[in-house]
Amino acid sequence: MTRMWCLPTEILCDDHLRGEHAEHHQLVGTINNHPHGEAIAEGHAEKGNIDTTRLEERHAQLAAEMERRGMNHNSPLAYDGPTYGADVIDLEVNRADLLDRCEDCATRAQEHSGSQ
Ligand SMILES: [Zn+2]
Ligand SMILES: [Zn+2]
Repeated sequence: MTRMWCLPTEILCDDHLRGEHAEHHQLVGTINNHPHGEAIAEGHAEKGNIDTTRLEERHAQLAAEMERRGMNHNSPLAYDGPTYGADVIDLEVNRADLLDRCEDCATRAQEHSGSQ
């Protein structure tokens, strides 16, 4: 499932960090290349899962955190296509959802409980 968590990168476990990063590239590929890319992006935006106005900024945060953890990152991302989901991402909902679904992220969030 495509989802931009947009949560502080330090609370993401390695899997969720890599996953959210990969989804950024997949999403841009889908919008640019998939025959139904527009409809797919609209579907994600309606669920509050993506905001293309934040794609580049969020990708940069994820890439920086990956490098900090010693993971390879060699995949620049640029997006100048249509806007989907501007301001639809609800960080409270995302945080609750992620921590509910992943013990590793929940533990990290506790360790970083001073973070937003
Ligand atoms: Zn990348
Ligand atoms: Zn996780």
